[in-house]
Amino acid sequence: MEECIFCKIINGELPSFKVYEDEKVFAFEDINPISQGHTLIIPKRHVENLWEIPEEDLAAVHFASKKIIRAIKDALNPVGVACLQLNGRGVNQVVMHYHLHLIPRASDEPQLPVSSWELKPGDMKEIQQIAEKIVAAIK
Ligand code: 5GP
Ligand code: ZN
Repeated sequence: MEECIFCKIINGELPSFKVYEDEKVFAFEDINPISQGHTLIIPKRHVENLWEIPEEDLAAVHFASKKIIRAIKDALNPVGVACLQLNGRGVNQVVMHYHLHLIPRASDEPQLPVSSWELKPGDMKEIQQIAEKIVAAIK
């Protein structure tokens, strides 16, 4: 993908703070970090989202996430690490190249906006109906 900034980062056309690379995966620091150690893991093959990603690339990204989250734990001693992955502009996916965010939180950092929301009980009938719709669409 010619204009994709993450493809350019993989190719070295744009600089990045790389933390990990293997045959299928590239990982680097986010330049607008929500917290210290905010890391992005991407497949080398350009694909936009979870609907499109081939299973082998998905597996490779998530296997790498285990390696990197372990390094984040050892290096930064966070109290937790949020994994976030957005699909579609409607949920604020900004870079249209699949990426998994690893967002650690240090004990002295505020709660992460991506992991703190108010719990409000839903309508059980509605939840059941939605679940049935999803079940019927599973292939
Ligand atoms: P999204 O909302 O698509 O899940 O998040 C895209 C992420 O990519 C954002 O957190 C943003 O800071 C990060 N980002 C955007 N452009 C660049 C860039 O050129 N280099 C790096 N390292 N991160 C970027
Ligand atoms: Zn790309």
